[in-house]
Amino acid sequence: MSDPLLEVEDLDVYYGKSQALDGVSLTVERGEIGGIVGPNGAGKTTLLDAVAGFLDYGGTIRFNGRDVADLNPQQLVNDGLIYCTEDRDLFPFFSVHENLLMGAQFREDRDAVRADLTMVYDLFPRLDDRRDQEAQTMSGGEQQMLAVGRALMGDPELLVLDEPTLGLAPVIIDDISDAIETLNDQGQTLLLVEQNATFALRHAHRLSLLESGRVELSGSAAEFQNNDYITEAYVGIH
Ligand code: ATP
Repeated sequence: MSDPLLEVEDLDVYYGKSQALDGVSLTVERGEIGGIVGPNGAGKTTLLDAVAGFLDYGGTIRFNGRDVADLNPQQLVNDGLIYCTEDRDLFPFFSVHENLLMGAQFREDRDAVRADLTMVYDLFPRLDDRRDQEAQTMSGGEQQMLAVGRALMGDPELLVLDEPTLGLAPVIIDDISDAIETLNDQGQTLLLVEQNATFALRHAHRLSLLESGRVELSGSAAEFQNNDYITEAYVGIH
């Protein structure tokens, strides 16, 4: 078996004197959907920020077999680690189409970029209908689709999604669900971080539960579904 695409080993992160992550380890294998669940303030976003190169940390992060300690966020993006943050970070005054193109600004193969634009519009027909609409005038769900679409335009090897369902209506969550499954069927590796454990368990092949900065449980989706603590504390609360 080949190396995992992402390996996090014994990760510690501090904000000043306060420790946000304590000895966190996890892996995401190529072709799978990895999941991280946990309550507010557990350290999920901190973990992703560290993986994406935004924070100093202790421990080791390897992406594609390479220690990324010396890489900055832009270099990680160039290597295919693309992080769709909880805040979405869209360009509010740019159109849907322009936002998508911004996601591909560092790519040189224009034919591949055009093919990916078609792929994104096929994946999210609502974006296709709104190509010229300003991002700021879109609904929350449409903006989430746009954020995922823009991340895809960066040609991710690992697509990292932080709370993609946060604040969205069930019908839009279904669209995001379908997109995640379609992408994974096409071979896309994903790391999905969710407070909504029901959603994460539906999609992720393997999961980690993060509580107070530590991994309290890790295992397959089936192991999570059969775990009384998980079902009582986390499933069905959304
Ligand atoms: P949520 O789902 O609410 O975003 P989370 O699991 O993503 O929660 P984090 O945002 O990673 O959790 O926060 C983990 C801990 O680190 C919290 O106690 C939080 O207050 C703290 N923290 C996060 N960012 C900072 C920061 N920039 N400065 C200081 N403390 C921070």
